[in-house]
Amino acid sequence: MITKIKYKDSEHNKKRVGKLANKKQIPDNLARELENFAKRNSIFSTKVDDKLVHHCCPSCLKAHALKKSEELNLDCKEAIEEMFECETGHLGYYLDEEEIIKI
Ligand SMILES: [Zn+2]
Repeated sequence: MITKIKYKDSEHNKKRVGKLANKKQIPDNLARELENFAKRNSIFSTKVDDKLVHHCCPSCLKAHALKKSEELNLDCKEAIEEMFECETGHLGYYLDEEEIIKI
């Protein structure tokens, strides 16, 4: 049984979640979509400032964010790049539940 989860990137994630919560750079509809993506692809959840935060693969979340921003015709690529300091997906693909999606 796991009693303690160590998450090395928690400070970075707090910032990321903070930015998502502020929704200053990311439009509301995309921010909501990303929250839903994180929820359905959640690896585990933690409480940050009394709010339940769902953690998923950041590379997949970033790829999904970029794809959705294109689909929704949103001009927020820079904000997404700034929010996620990681690779975009995995070798041209990302995972959404059981679906492998080409970037
Ligand atoms: Zn991933």
